[in-house]
Amino acid sequence: MIIDIDRLPEEGLCLARDFEFLSLDLVEENAVFLEPAHAEVTVRLVGEEIIVRGEITARLSFVCSRCLTPFEFPVASRFDLVYLPEELDGFSDELSDDKMDQMFYSGRQLDLRAVVLEQLNLTFPAKPLCAPECEGICAVCGEVVRESKCSCLVKESNTVWNKLKIPMRDKG
Ligand SMILES: [Zn+2]
Ligand SMILES: [Zn+2]
Repeated sequence: MIIDIDRLPEEGLCLARDFEFLSLDLVEENAVFLEPAHAEVTVRLVGEEIIVRGEITARLSFVCSRCLTPFEFPVASRFDLVYLPEELDGFSDELSDDKMDQMFYSGRQLDLRAVVLEQLNLTFPAKPLCAPECEGICAVCGEVVRESKCSCLVKESNTVWNKLKIPMRDKG
């Protein structure tokens, strides 16, 4: 969805719409959309700067990086962005530190779909977890510990690991 900067109304353009993205657009390779991403955005031109403010909501399914179980990952993210015209990109050396990751637009246009996708990707954790305390998969039986399919870990894992480790240490 391309926004023509020169056609923006002075008070800004308010949009509310759903964006369909493919899973392969996402930085998280195992993510699947449970419903389309919804964005409510205001786009304003102030001088030569484009101010983009809004909120994204989405529901995705992630795969836990510890126990490999799919889980629901809700997104509700606010953003407040400033885009400068591309012509200023060459002056980036002169920009202060807090503008190091300054964003730019070109050709008097802003691709709102790309903006929403970038913001969505920024909400994703580096290592998705179904729960912060997820104990993952039992090293003994291979079952997911959280679902209590495994009864051996709590009782036996320490013993098993100790048995493996102690002889190694003795040799050293
Ligand atoms: Zn997990
Ligand atoms: Zn087990």
